[in-house]
Amino acid sequence: LAALAGAASALTLSACGQLSGDSSGSGSKGGTIGIAMPTRTSERWLTEGKSMVEDLTHQGYKAQLVYGDDDPDKQVAQIADLVKKGVDALIIAAIDNKSLNDVLKQAAAAKIPVISYDRLILGTANVDYYVSFDNEQVGRLEARYIIEQLGLEDGKGPFTIELFAGSPDDNNTKYFFEGSMALLQPYLDSKKLVVRSGQTTLEKVTTLRWDGPTAQKRMSGILSQSYVGERVDAVLSPYDGISIGVLAALKAYGYGTDSKPYPIVTGQDAELASVKSIIKGEQSQTVYKDVRQLGEVASDMVDSILSGRTPRLNNRRDYNNGVKAVPAYLLQPTSVDKSNYEYVLVAGGFYTAAELK
Ligand code: BGC
Repeated sequence: LAALAGAASALTLSACGQLSGDSSGSGSKGGTIGIAMPTRTSERWLTEGKSMVEDLTHQGYKAQLVYGDDDPDKQVAQIADLVKKGVDALIIAAIDNKSLNDVLKQAAAAKIPVISYDRLILGTANVDYYVSFDNEQVGRLEARYIIEQLGLEDGKGPFTIELFAGSPDDNNTKYFFEGSMALLQPYLDSKKLVVRSGQTTLEKVTTLRWDGPTAQKRMSGILSQSYVGERVDAVLSPYDGISIGVLAALKAYGYGTDSKPYPIVTGQDAELASVKSIIKGEQSQTVYKDVRQLGEVASDMVDSILSGRTPRLNNRRDYNNGVKAVPAYLLQPTSVDKSNYEYVLVAGGFYTAAELK
């Protein structure tokens, strides 16, 4: 293991300083699991990386955790490295869902099982299972929140709304957006919701690499071009980092006062900054996904595969990745706002009350 860890890129968990000591972990079963996470800029991937290393160590495996820093080429090189070192299984959250085909051929040649973690890897037969949340439901929860808060079902309106989506190379982006639009589209059609920027198709509203500052820039442009003398009532945001960027733009345009309150702004991941923002009355909502549980499902799945058992699945349909139907295990997300964050996040043990102060 020392050789494995020592030769690994500077992105191993120990090198990130997220855990002290030998964060790679080791156990009696002896196999090594490679975990390739996409980025360290969003908290969730740090939380579940750490939690998977712990789960796997507990189950008797060694774990090698790497972060691709939002660079698809770097992630491919990291996975190639893990394959070369002979890991026994791979858990991968892809940065670019289509860039892994070649490296996964190498994994298949070495008979290394691959779990597509959170994000479905597309266009390859060399992926064994998909472990994620019900991502369309994430989008529906965000849209439902907007609809309820605006009172659209009670016939209120018209209101203005702007739409944001995630990174175009992340397969989840489509699920989130489609889930939201399935509920919002009727109101757009009836003009009870009006997108003054006119940007309503997925291609027009994506945010490369889920980057907050990119979203801030786009929101500023929209406010200066389409909202002079007008108010935006809601912003569909699919991720807390994007929501924080959107709120910064809104603040710069005078929102957040008694006479000009913030619009309804959704989010996802229950990141610390966003939960604090919700408590302060800025961001309105987020979608919480217990990523520790997702990590546990992935770790259990690896253990089943390596122990020769059939992994437990809970999803009625397989997910077609363009080449094969990938069997899936999906967890359910939860909508969180000011009214239930204490119950869901604090009582649920995701944050302590002190962390949210
Ligand atoms: C994940 C989200 C996350 C986003 C940005 C998506 O693939 O499902 O939870 O907010 O990536 O990291």
